[in-house]
Amino acid sequence: MAAVREEWTRARRFVIKIGSSLLANAETGALKADWLTALASDVAELCRNGKQVIIVSSGAIALGRRALSLRAKTLNLEENQAAAAVGQIDLAHAYEENFKAWDIVAAQVLLTLGDTEERRRYLNARNTMETLLRLGAVPVVNENDTVATAEIRYGDNDRLAARVASMMSADCLVLLSDVDGLYSAPPNSGTQAEFVDEIGEITPEIEAMAGDTGTELSRGGMVTKIEAAKIALAAGTHMVIADGKGKNPLQRLAGGGRCTWFLAHSNPVASRKRWIAGALEPSGAVILDAGAVTALGAGKSLLPAGVKGVEGRFDRGDAVVIRDSEGHEIGRGLSAYSHNDAARIIGHKSSEISDILGYRGRTELIHRDDMALKQKR
Ligand code: GLU
Repeated sequence: MAAVREEWTRARRFVIKIGSSLLANAETGALKADWLTALASDVAELCRNGKQVIIVSSGAIALGRRALSLRAKTLNLEENQAAAAVGQIDLAHAYEENFKAWDIVAAQVLLTLGDTEERRRYLNARNTMETLLRLGAVPVVNENDTVATAEIRYGDNDRLAARVASMMSADCLVLLSDVDGLYSAPPNSGTQAEFVDEIGEITPEIEAMAGDTGTELSRGGMVTKIEAAKIALAAGTHMVIADGKGKNPLQRLAGGGRCTWFLAHSNPVASRKRWIAGALEPSGAVILDAGAVTALGAGKSLLPAGVKGVEGRFDRGDAVVIRDSEGHEIGRGLSAYSHNDAARIIGHKSSEISDILGYRGRTELIHRDDMALKQKR
């Protein structure tokens, strides 16, 4: 057995992606109840060790097509969506029941890939999941297949899991499926393939190793896993590809079990700050008073009370430039309010927000986690 990895022991927040083939019997489509019961004990063990866990689970279509007796090898989009609508109930119930045995509350979160990209929904999804984790619940995420407009493809959840890991600044993303890791040549390619246990960068050679095959229930195969790795590494999240078929796969990984590690060179906080500082086009600005500038420098969030002016047109979740009263840029951040609402609450105490706007928004105009300050020269 290989050594226990410090990337694992140090990680505080995990996203665990569970492939359909682990949860549903390939022939009958029945739930693999024993496997899930064992997985719940793995999750409970992680939680006991102070880790936070987010599950991204496939399996809705696989479970639902059985209930609807949809037996054709390939289903059309509407049939897949119908199957997902039925199977998602079973899936959520199965997690709820199995987690309950360990006093863990399961929360169902249905996202579309767009939610993790589109700014406003992104902020909401992130805040909701942060709240769930703070309250000790385990979010169980799946794609909101019934409203998806594009063809549902197996393997989409690899990408979704990576986007969730990036959105939630997870330390480690674990892709559990029926493949045990990356090989130096695609499976069934006829070439002698060696197992790769560690990757530090996704080069074209690594992409070529992925090939394009997979089993019936996990057609995504390696290609979507490499795409997931790119998203994860850019977000400062380590990623693991591991075989989940045996019972208690997380326990096995915690003990240093065989898998492929994709190692990030940055950490999630630094990567997120970089993304806020550089990747987003700001659509407006907020002008601070001197007290707020000092407070931000001391690591505080930006409250409406410390803002003197708002410029430009922005929506909730958009990036804005943060300026001092002389107009110097001191950083950038994601605004929790649109420019209209921000203009109405600036200069006011946060406790007055609900009276002014008629709804209770966030206390902060820009939360410190959503802010990247310029380094002082
Ligand atoms: N969302 C699909 C389901 O739950 C699976 C997509 C995937 O496996 O990538 O059935």
